Amino acid sequence: MSNQKVRVRFAPSPTGPLHMGGVRTALFNYLFAKRNGGDFLLRIEDTDQTRYVPGAEDYIMKSLEWCGIVVDEGIREGGDCGPYRQSERKALYRKYADELIASGNAYYAFDTAEELDAKRAAFEAKKETFTYNSQTRGEMNNSISLSAEEVEGKIAAGEQYVVRFKMPDNHEVKEEDMIRGWVSFNTDQLDDKVLFKSDGMPTYHLANVVDDHLMGISHVIRGEEWLPSMPLHVLLYQSLGWGETMPRFAHLPLILKPVGKGKLSKRDGDKMGFPVFPLEWTDPKSGELSSGYREDGYFAEAFVNMLAFLGWNPGTEQELFSMDELIESFSLDRVGKSGSKFDPDKTKWYNHQYLMTKDDAELAVLLLDILKEKGIESTPEKAAIVCGMLKERVDFVSEIYEQGAFFFQAPESYDAKAVKKRWKEGVPEIMSEILEFLKGVDNWEAAPLKEVFSPFVTEKGWGFGVVMNAFRLSLVGAAAGPDLFDICAFLGKEEVLLRIENAINNIKR
Ligand code: GLU
Repeated sequence: MSNQKVRVRFAPSPTGPLHMGGVRTALFNYLFAKRNGGDFLLRIEDTDQTRYVPGAEDYIMKSLEWCGIVVDEGIREGGDCGPYRQSERKALYRKYADELIASGNAYYAFDTAEELDAKRAAFEAKKETFTYNSQTRGEMNNSISLSAEEVEGKIAAGEQYVVRFKMPDNHEVKEEDMIRGWVSFNTDQLDDKVLFKSDGMPTYHLANVVDDHLMGISHVIRGEEWLPSMPLHVLLYQSLGWGETMPRFAHLPLILKPVGKGKLSKRDGDKMGFPVFPLEWTDPKSGELSSGYREDGYFAEAFVNMLAFLGWNPGTEQELFSMDELIESFSLDRVGKSGSKFDPDKTKWYNHQYLMTKDDAELAVLLLDILKEKGIESTPEKAAIVCGMLKERVDFVSEIYEQGAFFFQAPESYDAKAVKKRWKEGVPEIMSEILEFLKGVDNWEAAPLKEVFSPFVTEKGWGFGVVMNAFRLSLVGAAAGPDLFDICAFLGKEEVLLRIENAINNIKR
């Protein structure tokens, strides 16, 4: 086993958009594979056709691609162990269900939905819960309670059936989880799970185990919600004679809501003010739109970096990790057992960190897209200058636009609060004098401009704050923004003079 090549898989069911917990599972699998020189497979588990959602597969692949998680084998990439979509593997599962029946580890069950309901109701009436297991299977309609002839007759007559796993009686299943250590389960707490249905489709449990075996999977890394399935899976490997090559298991801790109790769910997202999906998603049935990290302006690197820290930590102070650094440092030993709280503010912090490391020119491309959308023309050079001036103050490129729109458009209105505070009596007169003074200034770079402007203000005996605030209000329309002389240099003399004139004429106190 230890010499076996590391092969892991991400095995989502295409029942909707991939939620960030799913992306984290994919990421941890990917990091583990790449750290260990192994393969990362993408297998689509679509045996439950009733839950199939069109577009989900494509969404999953696009999400992984956006995050930089590269699939080695999968429905698009192909590979030696294909097909990688379970519905296309349908024909191969039957054989294993038959093997399990032949070896006495599984049996046919003919119980109808009505019969099962009646049984459940009868148990409820006794204030008990019905479990299909060693205690009850003898009274049910199955190949354990019926004779061989009866069973053959029913199958020949085309009666619907399922194949159930025959859970051994009072048996201890012990297995080592790479994150949790040894975990043990008593089979009396488990039920006879359905493995196969008469429509020819396996259930998740059978298909998952068979495929992990046939695809040479060495490690199963998945969410904690699958921990209760581990004993059944272990027993299936053993019953199918694959105990020796069984993969090792690692169940990742839950991702918890930022506030309150419990697991972060798909429904939390927009309600709590942050996306839970990597990319935007429109529900094909309801048309409802859910926000995505990408469209909300997060950088994929920031999203991935944040996800990596949901359950894992490097054991050092370092918080910023590129994908390559994550691969370099990742180990399941440093994944904790307890759930980790999702922190939307920290996610913004990550975005801010990545935004600051980007070139102004790179950010300018994104800013120009936003400007174009708003119908504002500019140049890559100008956009880059603005990005350089504002990037330290924002978490998103969209905020560069929000805070810096005045660079591209003269203010159409003036912030009322700022006007009240900063456009006091006497200010229009001061600004008129400043206008005249500036007309005579030729060197319009930020530093020389400041050098002549400051002595002028001092000489006039005006309060420096009063002047600067009014000046800013004239150019920006508000009481915010970067260094005023940088703004002047960017706008150019003509535009600055125009804006001061507009302010004098238009600001009404
Ligand atoms: N299809 C399962 C899911 O949707 C896979 C669980 C596993 O990795 O075994 O999460």
